[in-house]
Amino acid sequence: MATERLKEIARKVLSRDDVTCLIGYRRGSYGFRISPCFLTSPDEAEQLVISPLCLHNLATYLTAENIGPLVKTKDEKKNKIALMVKGCDSKAITNLIAEKGIDRESIIIIGIPCTGVVDIKKLEARFPGAVAPATVEIKDGMWVVAIEGTTVAIPLDELLAEKCKRCKHPTPLVYDELAGDPVAGKEDAYDDVKGLETQAIEERLVKWQEELGKCIRCYACKNVCPLCYCSDCALDRLRPQLIRRSVSVPENLLFHVTRSFHLAGRCIACGECERVCPQGLPLMELNRKLAKDVQEIFGYETGLDPEAKPILSTFTIDDTDEGIL
Ligand code: SF4
Ligand code: SF4
Ligand code: SF4
Repeated sequence: MATERLKEIARKVLSRDDVTCLIGYRRGSYGFRISPCFLTSPDEAEQLVISPLCLHNLATYLTAENIGPLVKTKDEKKNKIALMVKGCDSKAITNLIAEKGIDRESIIIIGIPCTGVVDIKKLEARFPGAVAPATVEIKDGMWVVAIEGTTVAIPLDELLAEKCKRCKHPTPLVYDELAGDPVAGKEDAYDDVKGLETQAIEERLVKWQEELGKCIRCYACKNVCPLCYCSDCALDRLRPQLIRRSVSVPENLLFHVTRSFHLAGRCIACGECERVCPQGLPLMELNRKLAKDVQEIFGYETGLDPEAKPILSTFTIDDTDEGIL
């Protein structure tokens, strides 16, 4: 039902004279993969899918306008991009609007109320080497995996992405069209960072030196992040060079600490950085700890209000010393 509604919305949106492209999801060419797609005509709407395999946060493409189909058109009348967003993805858009990174009028948001996505690493470990197209859906509180002519039911908890276990906003917070009925959110007690918080500082240092020592500085985490969009990233500069190109524990720590602090109060916990990391680093632990601290120190939860002032770009005379970084 939701998919049919989505296609109907997409056909309507792609028939508009002012829309240059719709960014959505379609089936990938193998296994469990679903890939982003860039549609330009109403006939292509049939390709779109809604599935627990729609993992990518498509908001990342909004700030990558020099790439492929998103190259800014010279036709001022054809200047809008439409895109599909889940609840978590919509918080990136809220922040981008608040930071004036994108213009609200230039996008059409197709909201997808979300019942959760799979942890692709767990799924692929369960079905190693799956090459033929396979599908996953949620039915009666279970994952139903259809693969190579068989159907397997798996309890929800076993494959649910970590972020979805505590998702407060599965229904997009900002949208122009909604493809489905709103989904209720869950509580988030930040249980996932309690381990980090109870560790002594010395233990934390050892742990993170070990973890970040595995980083190969491929920058996939930076490139996939919808909120990492400075056109001139200070960490890439050669003059002055803040971080050497060599991969070593001190340089890696500097990269990750700098990036984490630049994302404090901005990271919307979409988990994309951790999903794409080829080294399997637990980046969300850092992101979530900073999100919790920002919430406790400033009473600020990121991604909720497109009118909000970005918290680390502003101050009040009541700010405590702990809030000065
Ligand atoms: S965090 Fe929420 S909106 Fe995002 S994929 Fe999980 S359930 Fe869906
Ligand atoms: S994606 Fe992983 S390996 Fe690559 S730079 Fe980021 S943390 Fe390092
Ligand atoms: S740092 Fe990671 S979790 Fe946070 S917004 Fe960027 S990609 Fe998403």
